[in-house]
Amino acid sequence: MPELLFILSKISYAYSQFSSAEIRLTNTNSLYKGMFYSLKIMAPNSTRQRDSVNVLYDDSVGAILLNIFCVTAVVFGFNAETQLPFKYAWAGIFYVLLGARLIDTFYWHSKLKSILYAPAWPKLRFVFGAVAAAAMWSVYSVVVYPNIELLELAILLVVLAGLSGGAATVFSGSKKLSIFYSVILLTPVSIMMTLSVEPSQNVIGVLGIFFTILLVLASIRAANFTTSSIELINRNELLVEEMAKKNDEISNINHLLEEKVESRTQEILSLSNVDPLTSLFNRKAFSKNLGEILNNCKVEELNLALLFIDLEGFKSVNDTQGHSTGDKVLVAVAQRLMLFAKGPQHICRWGGDEFIIVVEDVNANEAIDFGRDIIKSVSQLIHVDLSRISVGATIGVSMFPEHGKEEAELISLADTAMYKQKDAATSDVCVFSHEMLEEQVRERFIRDALARALYNNEFHLVYQPVINNETNEVSFCEVLLRWNLNGQLVSPQEFIPIAEQYGFIHDIGEWVLMTSCSEVKNWIFDDSVDISVNVSVAQIMRTDFLGIAQNVLAASGLPSKKLHLEITESIFAGDTDTMLANIKAIQKLGIKVSVDDFGTGFSSLCQLQKLSADIVKIDQSFIASMHDGGQAIIQATQFMAGKFGYSVVAEGVETKEQADELSNLGITCSQGYYFSQPMIINDLPVWYEKFKQNKENASNPAELPGNKNDDG
Ligand code: C2E
Ligand code: MG
Ligand code: MG
Repeated sequence: MPELLFILSKISYAYSQFSSAEIRLTNTNSLYKGMFYSLKIMAPNSTRQRDSVNVLYDDSVGAILLNIFCVTAVVFGFNAETQLPFKYAWAGIFYVLLGARLIDTFYWHSKLKSILYAPAWPKLRFVFGAVAAAAMWSVYSVVVYPNIELLELAILLVVLAGLSGGAATVFSGSKKLSIFYSVILLTPVSIMMTLSVEPSQNVIGVLGIFFTILLVLASIRAANFTTSSIELINRNELLVEEMAKKNDEISNINHLLEEKVESRTQEILSLSNVDPLTSLFNRKAFSKNLGEILNNCKVEELNLALLFIDLEGFKSVNDTQGHSTGDKVLVAVAQRLMLFAKGPQHICRWGGDEFIIVVEDVNANEAIDFGRDIIKSVSQLIHVDLSRISVGATIGVSMFPEHGKEEAELISLADTAMYKQKDAATSDVCVFSHEMLEEQVRERFIRDALARALYNNEFHLVYQPVINNETNEVSFCEVLLRWNLNGQLVSPQEFIPIAEQYGFIHDIGEWVLMTSCSEVKNWIFDDSVDISVNVSVAQIMRTDFLGIAQNVLAASGLPSKKLHLEITESIFAGDTDTMLANIKAIQKLGIKVSVDDFGTGFSSLCQLQKLSADIVKIDQSFIASMHDGGQAIIQATQFMAGKFGYSVVAEGVETKEQADELSNLGITCSQGYYFSQPMIINDLPVWYEKFKQNKENASNPAELPGNKNDDG
């Protein structure tokens, strides 16, 4: 009986191992099932079959070796003398069978496993081998069980239980096979034992039948699970394949997109580097190119000239002929300039009507000749539609490495030289010099100081009497501005142009007008002496100037007829119509208008007539050169004045001879150091007193104290 219990415990252990595995499989199975059924496409039949066969063969070496071991154990493991011929014959046949199965399995491993083989025939071989093995065990158990000892029986039953339990998983690749295997293996002997007259065998037989049923169920589940897994694996493979395909497509599309983005980026890059109108490189790109060119010059120890080209007369083309004509002119100029550049990297449109060309291996003189050739070419008539247009050019040159080594520095220096040339005369070439830089620094200093000068009360006024040559009386006084900057007087000739350039002149001019008109109300002279205030062209051009003049007169209480405004001859260089209209409006208020520095500018007789000024002041250069041709100008001016009804004032009279000569020529008034230096208003009484005494004594007025240079 203990042996029986031992057998039962073995059987139940084998079953429990098997069923716990089953539970695990079942749980996982349901999970995979869900996934599996959610898949729409099934793997092809042959693939599934092949995978099933693979599952069968994969584990079959172990199963066959186990069989060999079991066969050997049951046949040769006991000393029993009974049924030996049968046992040996059975073992012999079984070894052959198992050997054949082993060969078949090796064949599968070596030849079929790694290829897409047709699964039908290998499956048939496998099923046949397995079913035959089951049948062999069944025959053996049925034949030997009535005549063997209990121990041998127990071992045999353990072997059968183990083999059929293992079959549920080992043969899970084929549901039918795993069911048949268990049924063939266990059912005959179980039935026979159930029907046996031995009660202990009856129990084992019933248990065997019950165990067989459980194994069948487990086999079904395991086989279903394996089938699902195979399907899932196949499906996964299909999905992976499909994903790889999609990935390929996406990567192709990405590649195309990348190429497009690359070409667009190139397009944008070239657009951002090129001036769209002229197709020349723009500032940004040129600065980069210039850096490379300069590096090359450094390595090869070459000079380089940078020519900063500014067109002359282009603004008026734009203003009078429209921007589209202006654009065409720029394109034509760019085409001409391109002929002078070594390559596209050596030229750019810097902005507006400014271009830059760089030339390697030239000295400053060669650069000047080169620049003049450029001006000659640019100045040729440009045919735009039906009109013929001409523009000029002014060029500033900076030299590498003499003037600078960096691109920004060279451009800035050439720009400075170009502006310097513009101040002197347009349409020529000017090479940068370090004095220009000093001037530039000084100009910036003056500009910054000017911005604070009014606020800091740094300005004051001086007055220079103008004498009537006929009566020898003071006719009027010119008001001149003085700027005391940190204890140093800055000449108006230096700071007025800067004030005009940076727009400070409007506030400063208003201050001069207001201060002078207020100061002179209580001065030494009677009502017959006027004041003459210098105003810049920029002031007159402003629409609010008339209002400012009216306010000043109203606020100061100075009668308008006592005020003269001196305007330089440069008024005729700009928009003369507006200027003339504004001057007329000023004269309508009763204010007199003088043309200052006459003879130095560009006024034509026609313009002079249109202006109908009240006074013309002959520039002091003609007085100084009276015996050197200046007299002719003075006489011509005097003649015109007689015709147009002006008064004439000679500026810069420094000697008695000049004063007498001018008086003899019939010049109305004289102004200059011979009579008086400009002086502050408080010095006028002393000067005037001495002037009157001097007249009476007919001594030299130049001896008077007011004539000393005390206008600071
Ligand atoms: P301007 O209006 O022609 O003034 C005459 C200049 O000649 C003054 O120079 C004066 O000091 C100088 N001068 C007078 N007599 C003689 C002489 O006998 N010999 C020589 N060599 N020079 C003489 P200043 O004061 O330096 O003024 C220079 C220029 O600055 C003025 O020339 C005028 O154009 C401008 N300016 C002066 N004050 C003002 C102002 O308040 N507003 C404006 N817009 N310009 C002003
Ligand atoms: Mg003046
Ligand atoms: Mg003058």
